Amino acid sequence: MVSLVGAGPGDPELLTLKAYKRLQSAEVVLYDRLVSSEILAMLPVQAARFYVGKARSSHSVPQSDINQALVAWAQQGKQVVRLKGGDPFIFGRGGEELEALVAAQIKVEVIPGITAASGCTAYAGIPLTHRDHAQSVRFVTGHLQQGENTLDWPTLAQPGQTLVFYMGLSNLVTICQALIQHGLEPSTPLALIEQGTTQQQKTHIGSLQQLPQAFHAGEIKPPTLLVIGGVVQLHETLAWFESQQGCAVGFDEGKHPTSALE
Ligand code: SAH
Repeated sequence: MVSLVGAGPGDPELLTLKAYKRLQSAEVVLYDRLVSSEILAMLPVQAARFYVGKARSSHSVPQSDINQALVAWAQQGKQVVRLKGGDPFIFGRGGEELEALVAAQIKVEVIPGITAASGCTAYAGIPLTHRDHAQSVRFVTGHLQQGENTLDWPTLAQPGQTLVFYMGLSNLVTICQALIQHGLEPSTPLALIEQGTTQQQKTHIGSLQQLPQAFHAGEIKPPTLLVIGGVVQLHETLAWFESQQGCAVGFDEGKHPTSALE
């Protein structure tokens, strides 16, 4: 049996009860970079853990190897947990793992998690929709293929919606410029939420025109989320709220053991 489990965006209290139960009975766990150490601490001591995450620009375990490892552990009769940051189906390759497991006729379940867009904005006092500002919300990848800009900018630049860019930090300038070029007001508010739902959460507010210039490389710590649209104005009104949130954890980058899938 394999459980594809969403661990939420950071704060361990955002784990669902179902996810918590699966962690308790896990025998083998394959986990990603964005799973906090507090959540890993909930695993049984005897559970075998394998780090299969990747940081931008560094080598990572190929997806096909992860798929194979999941199948192989399950075939040995282990209770396998595939633990992912946020929700497994939102920019998490959960779909690819599910396909591989189903093809191998392995019993599998998917346990949804709170995705970064929900967690970070809730803790920052930015509602994703609001009758006065946004009638829809779009989750977009900001990881643009090199030299290739395949996003549908004209529809992304429509007013009356909230855009949430995952993996967008290194393309912040390109994203803002493209949205302005395709018709969004340069004054459209933008929030950059750093290490959302953790004790280190920081929310930087600006506009499409002005925010990208305000940052110097290295100043911002990943993971970060970009939120663009009128709802971001509400952060000011609701700012007291952010300070009330009980964020409990931090990511400890680089402390993971090297992965050993075989
Ligand atoms: N499956 C995950 C997303 C994986 S893609 C989910 O549903 O949340 C990884 C991207 O998610 C990061 O580059 C960042 O943009 C965003 N992200 C994840 N956790 C975050 C956090 N705690 N704070 C800010 N952004 C986060």
